[in-house]
Amino acid sequence: MTFDFPEGADLNFYQPDQIKRVRLVKKADGYYVQFCIQVDREEVIEPTHLTIGLDVGLESFYTDSLGNKVENPRFYRTGEKKMKRSQRLVSRKVKSSSNRRKARVKLARVHLKISRQRKDHAIKLARCVITSNDVVVYEDLRIKNMVKNHCLAKSINDAGWHQFRVWLEYFGKVFLRVTIAVNPAYTSQECSSCGSIVKKSLSTRTHVCQCGCVLDRDRNAGINILNSGLGTTGHVGTFALDASNASGESTSVLVGANLLG
Ligand SMILES: [Zn+2]
Repeated sequence: MTFDFPEGADLNFYQPDQIKRVRLVKKADGYYVQFCIQVDREEVIEPTHLTIGLDVGLESFYTDSLGNKVENPRFYRTGEKKMKRSQRLVSRKVKSSSNRRKARVKLARVHLKISRQRKDHAIKLARCVITSNDVVVYEDLRIKNMVKNHCLAKSINDAGWHQFRVWLEYFGKVFLRVTIAVNPAYTSQECSSCGSIVKKSLSTRTHVCQCGCVLDRDRNAGINILNSGLGTTGHVGTFALDASNASGESTSVLVGANLLG
């Protein structure tokens, strides 16, 4: 497994042949040397016997299948404001002037700061979710289509979810937990109790079905996501299930629910 060398860590800890790649990276606030280290990081922790489905949304960062909501971090909104302000400053300056260049540098630093906060948030949250559950199911969202969205708030969230998912799958491998990405179709429209389709617009916050099932909209989706992960074939992003691949290379395998038991 390769990962970015953590800032401030001691490089002497690793053998020279573990360093697989060295890159010089230019960022808005300076140059960085990036060492890619090959390590097999695995930590054995006690099973929790808990499974969870996560529904990501704009109102909350995610809602799980038990109805718990994790709010969007505050820097999502403040970062959005800062980015808009810096973008305005750039566009107000005369093209190819040195003032415009300076404003651009400032904008790039705002971007960098937000991306670091986002990464930090994603790491902490993903670690917590993985260590608290044996199986974590979430939607396989097409991130490339999502970030094309012109709405700034949405693009900030999309990037955050993407990071979060990457770290979920990373910690899934470290702690030998199962992570499953499922098809996102109908997860919010289907009734998690009886399976009928209950059409709702984005503004409908409560799922009300003829069968008597009344649930928070996102929780209903979270349950559907969990059921879909446990009941059908999904895209599993962990190699805990794939004993043949012991080399530590990052991999994805397709498995059925029978392998989860
Ligand atoms: Zn129903």
